[in-house]
Amino acid sequence: MADSRPESEAWERIATIVRRSVPRQQFETWFRGISVVSVGPERLEFRVPNNFLREWILRKYSGVLRSAAREVVSGDPELVIHIAESADSSGSSSSGPLPGATPSRDADAHRAATAPRSAAEVHTSTVSARSPGISFGESDVTLNAQYTFGNFVPGPSNNFAYAAAVAVADSPGKSYNPLFLHGSVGLGKTHLLQGVCHRLIERRPGMRLLYLSCETFTNHFVTAIANGELDSFRYRYRHVDTLLIDDIHFLANRERTQEEFFHTFNTLYNANKQIILSSDSNPAEIPTLSERLVSRFKWGVVARIDAPVYETRVAIISRKVKMHGVTFPDDVVHYVAENIRANIRELEGAVNKMAGMAHIYGRSVSMEMAKTALRDLIPISQHRVSVDTIIRTVAEHYGVPVKDLMGKRRTKSIARPRQVCMFLARRLTSHSLEEIGGYFGGRDHTTVMYAFDKIRKEVKVSTDLADLVEHLSTRIRTT
Ligand code: ADP
Ligand code: MG
Repeated sequence: MADSRPESEAWERIATIVRRSVPRQQFETWFRGISVVSVGPERLEFRVPNNFLREWILRKYSGVLRSAAREVVSGDPELVIHIAESADSSGSSSSGPLPGATPSRDADAHRAATAPRSAAEVHTSTVSARSPGISFGESDVTLNAQYTFGNFVPGPSNNFAYAAAVAVADSPGKSYNPLFLHGSVGLGKTHLLQGVCHRLIERRPGMRLLYLSCETFTNHFVTAIANGELDSFRYRYRHVDTLLIDDIHFLANRERTQEEFFHTFNTLYNANKQIILSSDSNPAEIPTLSERLVSRFKWGVVARIDAPVYETRVAIISRKVKMHGVTFPDDVVHYVAENIRANIRELEGAVNKMAGMAHIYGRSVSMEMAKTALRDLIPISQHRVSVDTIIRTVAEHYGVPVKDLMGKRRTKSIARPRQVCMFLARRLTSHSLEEIGGYFGGRDHTTVMYAFDKIRKEVKVSTDLADLVEHLSTRIRTT
């Protein structure tokens, strides 16, 4: 906002006040796209890129905004939010008004304030007059601004799920319906579901989108029954263009909720509305899920997400490191990728922890720091590689005696496999250089470091050696 109009200056001051009372992340997410139109004692008027932002700001931040405005201008200005013209073409064929829709409170109050009507506003008013509209504000889940397609690193383990999610976001209701994503915890299901939401919000601002956890669906249902509000519950869930329910396996053992969801599903499906579900297992393996739901879940596409392969782990770590604005040495990236394999959330945790340590100690991230960080993070239950296993496996491969590797001999035939052992020990275990040296005839840490560097450099230029290291690592880990 570099212009010097008085509005801009007043708005800057308002924004500064708002920034003080809203967490930084939220401010970045919700206020960055705002451009000011006018600031005066009667009105605070600005533009946002889409209706979702408008609704959200009205719902959550009108109080904060107005009280900030009161501090800057004399008077009690109304809040008027326009949708930026260019972002208004939703292109959605399914965005006509709903029969029997009642205007929401927010929309009502603010429609009165939106005096000059451009084409964009008419459209906007129509959108907000629909109930339930875009319903993020009513569910317990808000979108994580980071969970976009752009921040998702595809790889062989998640390619299919990723491509399917993108396809569905690009033509909801037309490509795969339902889309059912499954995989174990921390592998990106929620990220992909929210990726769909972000894309739809960006490209189809008028679309009615409902994203929530299965728990929320269940809770709403239970509450609706208790309060005799089934009609409005049904209205809410059956009048959306895209319904995304995360962790649908929580329907297990909930017979009545399953029954209700079955009807929700049918209504939406028959109206060509998009349904996207995620689960920790494939439909057939969700305990006590009724047969008719299992079969429906398989009507569209069932995409499984597996644990990421090594290269993807490296790519994800590198991406997260970059997002922190720090750099990790290559060997640290590889060490983390080697040692955390089953859960991307843990990969992320490791990166966060190291970036935090580097910040606190005012030092750059080192291998020793990585080992300390991971020692706490890798669960005890996870199979830990022992140096003994490494030595045995390497000895077997090179056909040399174990005791020679651990001893003092320096002949070339022994020195080479010993260096490979040290390299692998550093990469696959959490032992310090000194500890590793201890296994090899009490050699000191500089010897271990030298061996590690030597092999690491060679691996970069020799695919044979790289393959061998990969092969040995796999054997060691699966022993
Ligand atoms: P799930 O819902 O399957 O348990 P999440 O979607 O919550 O997993 O993912 C856990 C964390 O890992 C999130 O912070 C997410 O951003 C990140 N993540 C998962 N997969 C990827 C990926 N392919 N690329 C980048 N980040 C990922
Ligand atoms: Mg999840």
